[in-house]
Amino acid sequence: MKLKLHWQIFIAMGAGTAFALLFPEQVPYIAPLGVIFMRLLRMVIVPLIMTSIISGVAGIGDSRSLGRLGGKTFAYYATTSMLAILIGLSVTNLIQPGAGVEIAQEQRIHPDDLEKPGSVSDILLRIIPLNPIGAAAEGDVLSIIFFSIIFGFAITRLPDKHSKTLQNFFNAAFSAMMTLTTSLIKLAPLGVLGLIANAVAGMGFDLFAAVGKYMLTITIGLSIHFLIVLPAMFYLFTKRNPLVHYRALASVMVFAFSSSSSAATLPLTMKTMENNVGVSNKVSSFVLPMGATVNMDGTALYEMAGVLFIAQALGIDLTLTQQIIMAVTALLASVGAAAVPSAGLVMIFIVLEAVNITTPAAYAMVGVMLGVDRPLDMFRTVVNVTSDSIGAAIIAQSEGEQLTYKSTAK
Ligand code: ASP
Repeated sequence: MKLKLHWQIFIAMGAGTAFALLFPEQVPYIAPLGVIFMRLLRMVIVPLIMTSIISGVAGIGDSRSLGRLGGKTFAYYATTSMLAILIGLSVTNLIQPGAGVEIAQEQRIHPDDLEKPGSVSDILLRIIPLNPIGAAAEGDVLSIIFFSIIFGFAITRLPDKHSKTLQNFFNAAFSAMMTLTTSLIKLAPLGVLGLIANAVAGMGFDLFAAVGKYMLTITIGLSIHFLIVLPAMFYLFTKRNPLVHYRALASVMVFAFSSSSSAATLPLTMKTMENNVGVSNKVSSFVLPMGATVNMDGTALYEMAGVLFIAQALGIDLTLTQQIIMAVTALLASVGAAAVPSAGLVMIFIVLEAVNITTPAAYAMVGVMLGVDRPLDMFRTVVNVTSDSIGAAIIAQSEGEQLTYKSTAK
């Protein structure tokens, strides 16, 4: 009997962890499995996003439906991300993980080595690509989404003859991308084995102890969002048992955890939402690619909690206005964060800058946070992806679609 994919992935996770703990020296031999798998997935991301959004938007047809779907999508994204930020704010203020941290000099990673993001207005402006092919070549996902939406919309305005041709073309291209994706996903257990072994082997345990309270705070915040807020949203809008959804999405979550990348998980998320949840291609191809880039609840929570942690550690008292500014920038930072490993951490510079905490000590703290980022990144990616999938389910049902949950992935 063939084992279901999510069990295969679970087993690979356990095996990868055990391998890294038992044979740390041998990890470089299996780590390439993870690298190869990530490369394969990243290879499909740009064409998958482009074809799915263009065919999705062109298929929606009129601007009224598009506006309605877009409105719902953004309302959902903004609501869940703001809730996540509020949770980040509350738990960090309650637990005060920054009070009394002391970090040995040698444990710091130099922040100058980190690539810093542009300003908030920069991020917003850069959504408009100078050259869509260039954006595609660079993998600049926000710009690709922007161009694909307006291009898809333009298709709907063409005379029938042309719009049919282009629609057929993009639908066919999208099917081809999904077929390709489906075959790649079968390799997930091997990829996860390499990814997990490498992640476990790369963790320096001393640093974890020094900032354990900080990690605990983020973990508690993410857990509240993942186990309470998101299921509550799901129940509120679909009147269904959230467990059904979590069960159907199990392999997606495990994969998000192992890969630390919403973008790399996107192909699997789309396939699962269509095959196991019964969400139409029209909704999933619009909501999910956008969600993977724009809707990052876990990252939003993390930005807020992370900056508060730094402020606490440096003994900075934040005014209410400053906290509000932080919340808004944390939201924008989560929108602008690329859906790849550790992107969220780097965006913390934007939030720090917004409230003028730019001393070398603050940057050194970011270096410390980078040292322990991997497990937190894994968890916030799970939260990011779960929120996208719940959004897609809620929106599909609100569009009159029947959700047909199958409890297990194939
Ligand atoms: N790794 C996260 C994601 O892809 C982004 C982050 O670093 O917060 O969803």
